[in-house]
Amino acid sequence: MKRSYRFGLFGHPVKHSLSPVMHAASFQSLGLQAEYVCFDVPPEELAERLEACRKEGFDGLNLTIPHKEAALPLMAKLDPAARLFGAVNTVAFSAKGCSGYNTDASGFLDDLRESKGLSPEGRRVLIMGCGGAGRALAFACARDGAAEIGLANRTASRAVALCEEIAERLPDSVSQVEVLSGDPDVWARFCRDCDLILQCTSTGLHAGDAALLPADAFRPGQLFYDLVYTSRVTATMREALAGGADALNGTGMLVHQGAAAFSIWTGLKADTRAMRAALEARIYSAEAAGV
Ligand code: NAP
Repeated sequence: MKRSYRFGLFGHPVKHSLSPVMHAASFQSLGLQAEYVCFDVPPEELAERLEACRKEGFDGLNLTIPHKEAALPLMAKLDPAARLFGAVNTVAFSAKGCSGYNTDASGFLDDLRESKGLSPEGRRVLIMGCGGAGRALAFACARDGAAEIGLANRTASRAVALCEEIAERLPDSVSQVEVLSGDPDVWARFCRDCDLILQCTSTGLHAGDAALLPADAFRPGQLFYDLVYTSRVTATMREALAGGADALNGTGMLVHQGAAAFSIWTGLKADTRAMRAALEARIYSAEAAGV
């Protein structure tokens, strides 16, 4: 095993990231000498900063907004998920250059399996939000055999483009993928017949944000999964629970995408329990203090 490791996160902005907190908890639990540092990297510096980290001997990087798509042409190799989703969130280095991976969707799928024993296979899924995260989850659900997928986005043209891309890149998918109009009543009607509802918009990040759907859009037997992790229970989770559905926030996805990146970099298994505990301690103490 190496004596010490160096990892980093490129974003712009990046200073509020919780990734250093969760990785540090796992490093400590595993007894690793390792650091995970955030770098604020403007878009025009991405290529040179990647190369600088490679030359400095970094063991791996994560990428977040706005770098995930821009990094694609800078990779010497891409894993199947990064290629399919058109986005890189994890970079490993070798003498030949950078290898790009995507662990966002696998983080979600690992959490779904671990927390609820579920997978998207055969399910009717509503995806609200077709930005970077919604896009990765839509591709993953179509790849993994969801029966039906409804794509809902405030700006409907983005959902239309995603639907076309899924049809093009996954021509053998068994999933029936449809675009819902931007009307929240249409989302609510579709939601009632779904097994799995994924909240992939950035609403809910702020304490005063309104719920995306009312309680009567939900029913028992459904799982509502909100990717937002800055609140234990978001406004839309509250409505889902009131409607009788089960609900999870995005903490587990964050933990598992980080753990998968760590395994790619080191071949080791991260301590996901320590990561989750550290995250929850940080997030919910801040929430309680109204920060
Ligand atoms: P993004 O690419 O910027 O996309 C943002 C999405 O939110 C777009 O679909 C946008 O719709 C929609 N949106 C923004 N404001 C809205 C509003 N007021 N009403 C309805 N829709 C709205 O961001 P992203 O990377 O996909 O991230 C989305 C969310 O997922 C964020 O909260 C992020 O923190 C969370 N996330 C969590 C994890 C995790 O591990 N738990 C991982 C990745 C992301 P338009 O196209 O109409 O603008």
